[in-house]
Amino acid sequence: MFNIVAVSDFNMGAMENKGLNVFNDKYVLALPETATDADYAAIEAIIAHEYFHNWTGNRITCRDWFQLCLKEGLTVFRDHEFSADQRSRPVKRVAEVRALKAHQFPEDQGPLAHPVRPRKFREINNFYTSTVYEKGSEVVRMIRTLLGAHVFRAGMDLYFARHDGQAVTIEDFVACFEEASGRDLTQFALWYHQAGTPNLNVEATWSARDKTFRLDIEQSTPPTPGETRKKAMHIPLAFGLLGANGKELAWESVEGATVSGGVIHLKKRKHAVVFRGVQSRPVASLNRSFSAPVTLHFAQGDADRTFLARHDTDAFSRWQAINDLVTAALIKATKAARGGKAPLFDAALIALLGQIAADDSLEPAFRALALQLPGETEIAREIGDNVDPDSIHAAREALSRAIGANHRASLRMIAETLSTPVAFSPDAASAGKRALANVLIDHLGAGSGEPGIRGATLPRRDQHDGSGRRARHASAALRRNRDGE
Ligand SMILES: [Zn+2]
Repeated sequence: MFNIVAVSDFNMGAMENKGLNVFNDKYVLALPETATDADYAAIEAIIAHEYFHNWTGNRITCRDWFQLCLKEGLTVFRDHEFSADQRSRPVKRVAEVRALKAHQFPEDQGPLAHPVRPRKFREINNFYTSTVYEKGSEVVRMIRTLLGAHVFRAGMDLYFARHDGQAVTIEDFVACFEEASGRDLTQFALWYHQAGTPNLNVEATWSARDKTFRLDIEQSTPPTPGETRKKAMHIPLAFGLLGANGKELAWESVEGATVSGGVIHLKKRKHAVVFRGVQSRPVASLNRSFSAPVTLHFAQGDADRTFLARHDTDAFSRWQAINDLVTAALIKATKAARGGKAPLFDAALIALLGQIAADDSLEPAFRALALQLPGETEIAREIGDNVDPDSIHAAREALSRAIGANHRASLRMIAETLSTPVAFSPDAASAGKRALANVLIDHLGAGSGEPGIRGATLPRRDQHDGSGRRARHASAALRRNRDGE
């Protein structure tokens, strides 16, 4: 029996008490008149999370507080996978990674940095951290990446069969995967015990003469309070090598690290991974689907990034390439705005964004995500210090204006098609269409000024001038837009 009680004044999202889950009512109740698509998605995710706790938390519970990620990290992973199945998988993954970088990465860099399984506490409420929840989920995800979905499932089945009705530890959990796979996960388990976000420095070298592609990869984890010397982690780095036609390139042999199932297993501080028998210069797509919660430093030129933005078969990495290009352009534009100059954007970038907006082979939710500019805080985080919020705002507005002004006719056509009135439904596909229509209308609204690009000219601007107002609801905004003409 699964019972829920909804409470209007509740300090958390929900609580998985066995037999009677207590919910903050905003995570159970919604009215189409007032709820946003994000509200519906949150309801779906939180009900799933508490329901999944029946097994991972209640039937199998934690021996003590230090095992908290055993129920939370694992259950967050389960609810993430549930939402990915219900909605757009890449869009969900991007949202998870953004949240991780916004909340958990700063935790790892600050005075409160702690491992996924902490060793001490002063106040137990302080245990409910992004590290225990979100990084804990990433660690479970990495176990699946290491072992493959099939063996991972066997490990989970063993965990449920063996420990139903018990209070257990992280070691008990990891032991199930070691048994199911026959693999030694001792080094991997460091992810539970060592704090900090590892840095991965990568350099790529292509030899046309030898037909070899070499990746020099070095890992390092910065010191955190109480942990000055860090050990090398086992990092599963998912990757792809793309040829000029956008297809994965084959290689004859590889040395310098274990490579299997599209994953490079990094276990030492330094690896020189050499792929032999590669027929043409590849473009490397690294940390696909964000296979490891690390900070990747890989100097890739704009041409390679643009190539990945157009062709990467891993949708997450494709978004990452788009986001990297847009972020770099916005940082440049912020500098210009700060120096009193008008921010200008490369025509190639504006063309890329227009092409993605119009690409029917991509799902609307993904196109909406790709067209959404990074938030002001995200840009500020990338700039690092001496941040000027006014210039960031001006740069962001300028890019939105450039997108809207240069693609006016096509964006308007897509937005109108998406906004054909239909009966409201909160389902994922409808929500994706609304998201795309809204982001296009935002750019169209901003784009009534100058095009603001340099370089090759784009197709002629449509001369109509939109109302310029930002809109909450797509079809209402379009109506207004039309009425304004
Ligand atoms: Zn929970």
